[in-house]
Amino acid sequence: MIMKSLYSKFAFITIMIMIVSGIVSFFISNVYYQVKLKQQNDEKITNFALEMADFASKHPSISLQDYFGHIGVIGYQILLINQEGKKIYFGSSFRRTNLPEVVQERVMNGEVYHGIRQFPHKTFVTGFFANELSNSIGVPFQYQNKKYALFIRPDIKLLFNEMHILFGWLLLLSILLSIFMVLISTKYLIEPIRKLNMATKEISEGNFSIRLNIERKDELGHLAANFTKMSEKLAKVDMLRKELISNISHDIQSPVANIKGYLDLLENNDKQDPDKQQYIRIMHSEADRLSKMTKQLLLLSSVESKRDLMNVSKVDISGLLKSVIHQYQWSILEKGIMISYELPDAWVKGDASLLYSLWENLLTNAIKYNYQNGTIDIELLETVSDIIVVFKDTGIGLDEKQIERVFDRFYRADASRERSVEGTGLGLSIVKSIIDLHHGKIEVKSQKGKGSVFKVSLPKL
Ligand code: ADP
Repeated sequence: MIMKSLYSKFAFITIMIMIVSGIVSFFISNVYYQVKLKQQNDEKITNFALEMADFASKHPSISLQDYFGHIGVIGYQILLINQEGKKIYFGSSFRRTNLPEVVQERVMNGEVYHGIRQFPHKTFVTGFFANELSNSIGVPFQYQNKKYALFIRPDIKLLFNEMHILFGWLLLLSILLSIFMVLISTKYLIEPIRKLNMATKEISEGNFSIRLNIERKDELGHLAANFTKMSEKLAKVDMLRKELISNISHDIQSPVANIKGYLDLLENNDKQDPDKQQYIRIMHSEADRLSKMTKQLLLLSSVESKRDLMNVSKVDISGLLKSVIHQYQWSILEKGIMISYELPDAWVKGDASLLYSLWENLLTNAIKYNYQNGTIDIELLETVSDIIVVFKDTGIGLDEKQIERVFDRFYRADASRERSVEGTGLGLSIVKSIIDLHHGKIEVKSQKGKGSVFKVSLPKL
């Protein structure tokens, strides 16, 4: 509906512009005719008239009847008045023979009559075509010692008839053609808007796989390109959302089902069941898992919803790293891991508690996915623009395919799916979001079975 009205509005406005500019240019050319052309035309015809009069008076032997008869045939309308007031017309007749007596007398007495120049202004350029005796040139002359008054005007019909038709057609054709062109070009202009409109509808109905087919370099082309980009982003967001919901429900469902199962066992079993403690332990760990996951989800959604850092301060990176290592000292010892680190002072601008979570996630991964008695190596370097922190472990490693996905939410590589390794698959998505928020970068290098390197760069203060 909108398309239709836009189309007709556009066509209507363009056609109106054509009409208005036609009228305006008609007025302007009229002024030009009145000011300039009318005068020139008058002069030209006056010259012809004087020329004829001169010829007639210099050749008293010719017959006036023949002479003016010829000129009339060639293309002039002529009135000849003799001394006695007798009028003879030559050429095609005047539509109106309105000429005041005084004018006739004055011309007879030697004045030149400029009827074309004096023809009323209000007639516009059409005055040029007015087939009236008053719209003529009058000159006096003498022939065989008698006074004559000669009135002439060009026989427009005879001289310009073909031209008239030609110009008429030209005008009509150009009007019709331009209306036709306007209708077509408007369609061409409006078409992408129509397509975009349809696409918007599709998107609002949840169909993101739209093809616009708008190959243009103008603003509409840009709009279409941005629109396609937007719909791709929306499709991705939609997919992620669905995936997230299914992952969350799956990951929450299984511990809840476990807890329920063990609760049933406890309820039905003998109070003295020796496995009772074992059941309770498992339920504890499942509850812990649930609680950890909800905390991580909360953290993730809070990090992802931020556009900018809120609690920015000067953060001591080496201090943070040392306290994280200190906190996990016990699990490192438990797995017999050798940890080495060199942490010179370095500062970045950022959110201290988020940066703490960042290092915590990387360190706990390096512990979790390490072998018994493996090693972890943490390094802190400084370049001109960045602070670089490298976590190197000698753990189970990842292959190319897995590296590509480690930052996806809920992704856990196959090896770590076993129950023995606690995890939610959210840690590295949190890491990535925190780094993005600090305008940093993370790179992963890994070899299956040998170990992994996680390299984080954060822009300096
Ligand atoms: P999780 O809670 O499972 O540790 P993460 O998002 O932290 O989730 O990690 C996603 C997956 O990436 C892990 O399940 C694991 O398979 C793999 N991964 C992460 N860090 C390492 C590492 N240092 N060595 C080997 N694999 C790792």
